Amino acid sequence: MDDNLSLAGCSVPIQSLQRHTSPIIAILGHFHAPDPANARITSQVLLEFARIPANFYSLQPRYPSFTEQLPPMTIFQKIINREIPARIVHEDQHCMAFHDVSPQAPVHVLLIPKKPVASLAELTADDAQLCGHLLQMVPVIARQLGLSDGYRTVINTGGHGGQTVFHLHIHILGGRPLHWPPG
Ligand code: 5GP
Repeated sequence: MDDNLSLAGCSVPIQSLQRHTSPIIAILGHFHAPDPANARITSQVLLEFARIPANFYSLQPRYPSFTEQLPPMTIFQKIINREIPARIVHEDQHCMAFHDVSPQAPVHVLLIPKKPVASLAELTADDAQLCGHLLQMVPVIARQLGLSDGYRTVINTGGHGGQTVFHLHIHILGGRPLHWPPG
């Protein structure tokens, strides 16, 4: 009997991997096969593969049927992947914080989950632990940034909320008194 590799709840015969130079290409190739058992494989599962992102999005021309439903990679995902630079102030298994490229206060840091959640509106009950972790990290990062006189946290959501990058992020602003209400 063939040995199988299990990934994201899916099982792929090792033998099929050996025919390819890259496991991820093999996995996509496997799901591409006209096998009804693979019909349940969705872009959601493929998003989990994006945790091995090195060349994932560049596969689009080769495997359009599996990548066309994926949202475009955000600038924040590229920061997580170290594809573009950022001034990182914190990183752990679940989140990352880095200075905003266009600061609106003397200190302006963005805290993001590593999980590609588009916005606050996309969160589900499964994300409760992740949200708890993010909130818990805010005062830790604020202390690290020396914001002892206070700070403001902002989460813009959707068009009317002024969101421009569709990867959930918490703005942490401080270093001067901030006005209220915001514009
Ligand atoms: P939003 O408007 O979605 O709430 O916030 C997005 C934030 O991301 C903005 O404050 C913007 O300045 C910041 N931003 C956009 N592109 C980059 C980037 O490439 N690097 C960093 N560090 N921040 C960015």
